[in-house]
Amino acid sequence: MAFIPFVAQAQTSTILINDVSTIITSVSKKDDDIEVLHNKDVLIVDGVINKISDHIEVKTDKTIEGKGKILQAGFVDTHDHLWQVDIRSCGNEHNLYGWIRDCDLLPAKAQFTKDEAFAAIRTSTYDLINTGVTTVMDWNHTMTRGQTWGGLDALQQSGLRYVMAFNPSTDDTFNKDAYKLKSAIDKDPLGHMELASHPAIYMEATAKKAVELAKELKVSVNFHYLENRTDDQLEQHTKVLKRIGADKVPLILNHVVHPTDDEIAWMKDIHAKLTHNALSNMRLASGVMPLGKLHKAGLTVGLGLDGAANDNADFFTLMKATVGLQRASHEDPTVYPSYKDVELLATIEGAKVLGLESSVGTVEVGKQADLILLNPNTSNMGATWDSVAQVTLEAQPRNVEMVMVAGKILKENGKVIITDEPLSALLAKNKQTVERFKTKYTKTKGDAPF
Ligand SMILES: [Zn+2]
Repeated sequence: MAFIPFVAQAQTSTILINDVSTIITSVSKKDDDIEVLHNKDVLIVDGVINKISDHIEVKTDKTIEGKGKILQAGFVDTHDHLWQVDIRSCGNEHNLYGWIRDCDLLPAKAQFTKDEAFAAIRTSTYDLINTGVTTVMDWNHTMTRGQTWGGLDALQQSGLRYVMAFNPSTDDTFNKDAYKLKSAIDKDPLGHMELASHPAIYMEATAKKAVELAKELKVSVNFHYLENRTDDQLEQHTKVLKRIGADKVPLILNHVVHPTDDEIAWMKDIHAKLTHNALSNMRLASGVMPLGKLHKAGLTVGLGLDGAANDNADFFTLMKATVGLQRASHEDPTVYPSYKDVELLATIEGAKVLGLESSVGTVEVGKQADLILLNPNTSNMGATWDSVAQVTLEAQPRNVEMVMVAGKILKENGKVIITDEPLSALLAKNKQTVERFKTKYTKTKGDAPF
């Protein structure tokens, strides 16, 4: 497929979002409240929020009507595996270990090609734009070279802001791609890079390689950590992380469902950032992250859709599940996070996890215009008691009327408008890939680790 890199707008452009009824800024106020503005104009110049005021008189290239609508920062998806659109609904009765063994390792068995990876990852980006995600962290797996480069092409064509994680192998020839990838991503104003691996005793050499490469490339490392109850015992996550020096580099830890008090204190000491993947933890029967305890310890946490371990890409369902899992497991409607806290987790806290909080995550002058506009005039959210709860508890992707990243509109009038690759062609390619994957699929009984 043709590679046409997405380039952020270079020419001067001025967009006015006119008379917005409600702006949820994701700026924290005293008493755990969140700032909500009403009836404001928002001016965007060259992809940056230039002014928020009662009335702005200016000649614009484009005006968007905000009356009756809700404007907020785009969602930050801090943990995802976009190629996994090709293993949705695979291994539906497995826990984490059975699912990884039967479904997640298929691209390695099947030699995922560049075109296949491109189609899968580009399809996922449509879904993300549709639900209002503007920044995605794609833990790419990079099991094949095709997966690396097809993945980068797809992210760059999507128009999304992205963090792409390269997963080294024991083959240093393969690892040379990490340097090439860094150089390609550094040229893209929307792109960032991380190194990824898994902190298990049987993968210690590659996990160490990820840390070494991260030091050289000056990027963060990104690991899954304590997802299943048996991880510490069987894979020795914490011991491995300490042995490979992961605490000496900026560290992002995904899931953290089963930490001990000592591990919580250690994560705080080394300033680790965390991601919470509620829908994935439900699907794989992993357990419930002790979110309140981690928050109380002062750890920063963002939200992640986590690929096919979620089976869809609906950020509103993710927010609702994040609140609901904690309330249900504690039998307490006042536990952290509240319906307002989860709006922060979905935006500015996620931006902090990825180190992007100075440019995205809030609606403030000087920030990048990574914004979404919701139309609440629908049956599912038409009546208003509380505008934040309207978003975090009521809304659905269909309410996301407009999505922009750095002022570039990716969804308008409820339709994803970036059409470099027709969705029908991508879906046809994905169907072919799934049929090919099925020939390598082995359905096993039980969930024991490898
Ligand atoms: Zn994951």
